[in-house]
Amino acid sequence: MLQNDMLESWDRENFFHPSTHLAAFARGDAPQRVVTGGSGSYIEDREGNRLLDAFAGLYCVNVGYGRTEIAEAISAQAHELSYYHAYMGHGTEASITLAKMVLDRAPDHMSKVYFGLGGSDANETNVKMIWYYNNILGRAEKKKIISRWRGYHGSGLVSGSLTGLELFHRKFDLPLTQVLHTTAPYYFRREDRNQSEAQFVQQCVDDLEALIEREGADTIAAMIGEPVLGTGGIVPPPAGYWAAIQAVLDKHDILLIADEVVTGFGRLGSMFGSDHYGIKPDIMTIAKGLTSAYAPLSGSIFSDKMWKVLEQGTDEFGPIGHGWTYSAHPIGAAAGVANLNLVDSMGLVENAGNMGQYLRDGLTDALGGHINVGDIRGDGMLAAVELMADVDAHRFFDADDKITYQIVAAMAEDGVIARAMPQGDILGFAPPLSLSREEVDEIVSKTAKAVTEVLG
Ligand code: PMP
Repeated sequence: MLQNDMLESWDRENFFHPSTHLAAFARGDAPQRVVTGGSGSYIEDREGNRLLDAFAGLYCVNVGYGRTEIAEAISAQAHELSYYHAYMGHGTEASITLAKMVLDRAPDHMSKVYFGLGGSDANETNVKMIWYYNNILGRAEKKKIISRWRGYHGSGLVSGSLTGLELFHRKFDLPLTQVLHTTAPYYFRREDRNQSEAQFVQQCVDDLEALIEREGADTIAAMIGEPVLGTGGIVPPPAGYWAAIQAVLDKHDILLIADEVVTGFGRLGSMFGSDHYGIKPDIMTIAKGLTSAYAPLSGSIFSDKMWKVLEQGTDEFGPIGHGWTYSAHPIGAAAGVANLNLVDSMGLVENAGNMGQYLRDGLTDALGGHINVGDIRGDGMLAAVELMADVDAHRFFDADDKITYQIVAAMAEDGVIARAMPQGDILGFAPPLSLSREEVDEIVSKTAKAVTEVLG
């Protein structure tokens, strides 16, 4: 076992980890965990720890770990046909079946699904198709994309630009000039503390209108948004937000991309966030819950309205010049089919709604009265606890105090994984949709214990 004993040092010497402090990790000063197994809501590591994963990996392992139905589907697919491409009309039983299953679940006005690998590349596909669409319609100037501050849409060139978190732009020459950002629908952090929720929604609308006015509607192609802000803080929209935003976009003939990478396939207790909030998108981005991360696969679902123009474009200009080698990879597709069947047979959409509510109620009972807890929020199987230095004065902690990181570390010591969201002291929860009541109780009690340990 000599080789295995070297794993931690090989890791520091060879492995470029995403979203990691590279220098500290190489020095051995940053957290390191070698994960060895997973079953249900729990993972295991090489030290022999068993941890309840209250973030489902990166909010993606929706059906939980170790589901043999999916493992067997992947194995069967690899034995029968490990790969074939999807170019020039090629398909596999798995990819064609999955496309049908996705469209059966999507809103009625959606028409076709393109399969990629992850959320970032799906959003790159979306922007390219929007540019193509407007070129076919003869609107060469209508190309800019509006996103929201605190949105998360990936970390590629366009997708990283769409992301509205400073860390993902810093020293990367992002955002690209075609991307504009508008106000985050984050009522708890509104600038004007006296605003009612309705007044704040109007503020979001006014800010969007002003941006469109300044740039010119004939230069703006689309707006992208997550139904619930995810990585930017797990923030459900204020009441009426989506209807009001959609009305502005419709008025100016601006397309809407609903980034459903986190919210798709049940996380909100509805099949999609678009169903949940009455959004009518032109494109939906899907990934994570499509395969529960058993294999990499994402998708871009296009509306009838867009699809007709894309078809027209290929009649005029030839085959679409877009595709990845691994688009619609059969192993990902086989995982997707088995995963969506499991979501149905285990009743996970409903469970996400019920257990998510139970989780937020538990967190509210345990921590609602804590002197440093400013907000407890969420929707479906998403929850967040926002911590503050002084709730009455609405004063946040200094980022250097790393309060949430300390709490997350204390929780991990005690066997529960939560996430310190990257901007602010926000403790995030996005457990598997298969979570049980006992597991909710474990999350709540260990969260309360760690908050008290760190903050008193
Ligand atoms: N969109 C959203 C809403 C996401 O949360 C994420 C990932 N957290 C992405 C896009 C990017 O997906 P990926 O990391 O698979 O590229």
